[in-house]
Amino acid sequence: MSTPILSAHNLVKHFKAGGFGAARKFVRAVNDVSFELASGETLGVVGESGCGKSTMARLLVQLLTPDSGEVHYQGKVVGRELPLKAFRSKVQMVFQDSFASLNPRMTMIDAVAFGPTVHGMSRSDATRKAQDLLDRVGLDPSRFGGRYAHELSGGQRQRVNIARALAFDPQVIVLDEAVSALDKSVEAQVLNLLMDLRRERGLTYVFISHDLNVVRHISDRVMVMYLGEVAEIGPVESLYSAPCHPYTQALLAAMPSLDPDRRTMEAPLAGDPPNPIDPPQGCRFHTRCSRVFAPCSAQAPAQHKVGKTHFAACHLNSAKEHVA
Ligand code: SF4
Repeated sequence: MSTPILSAHNLVKHFKAGGFGAARKFVRAVNDVSFELASGETLGVVGESGCGKSTMARLLVQLLTPDSGEVHYQGKVVGRELPLKAFRSKVQMVFQDSFASLNPRMTMIDAVAFGPTVHGMSRSDATRKAQDLLDRVGLDPSRFGGRYAHELSGGQRQRVNIARALAFDPQVIVLDEAVSALDKSVEAQVLNLLMDLRRERGLTYVFISHDLNVVRHISDRVMVMYLGEVAEIGPVESLYSAPCHPYTQALLAAMPSLDPDRRTMEAPLAGDPPNPIDPPQGCRFHTRCSRVFAPCSAQAPAQHKVGKTHFAACHLNSAKEHVA
């Protein structure tokens, strides 16, 4: 890979969860997460709720400060070699809750024009840009520009949030469950819009979702997270056709199928993930893994190369090339 457009280096984020002194407890939300994003690609991020996907997204866009680790944008350390303000115009985020993301007292045209005016654009230019962007995301500015958030449907509001992100002319957009709250037909329309925008503008996406079908549809590569760590990462075709981590295998086996002959009769993944305040020693998945063996509870597995650009953190792959 040439210089990645965005990369995470050993990101760690633990949140205080009560207790005092030596007894203080921490939620280990993100634990030593590293990955790279090539310009123009879409990285899907999957995992059960509580696996650290959203915290990782907020660390990536610097809405949260990591306890340790760095984010690099085009090879520059964000916050040190690249000022935060410059970074924020290049890397934008769209959240799941389309309503909470919009100021209820702002019209949609003002909501989209707000970012460019803060970054020094004249009001008339910013308004013109907002009109063009609303039009581009499928909302007629003469009909929707003067409306408030509560006057729009969820799909329309999410289109405004996408226009708002585009108003900064970003290179990267992090989409955190951005289509999850929409019904299926609206979801498909917004996904098509995102794919068109990516093609037109050469955008790079980090697409976070619990829906493995949607992630497969939109992603070039997929990263699977479990209890704040990367279990597996690789190209979408090889990860879906030949998953190497038992957790990925279980997630894929639990995917709903429209084919009645391929319906899963047993739950491949039993129970809830362990408490992230006190994660299991060794491999964090060993308390639920159907293939657990002696070393799993004693030693955390390193990432092993299982394909050209495909890696899995599991002792079962230790005979393959060790990379970290
Ligand atoms: Fe399962 Fe062991 Fe692999 Fe962890 S390291 S996923 S417990 S086989």
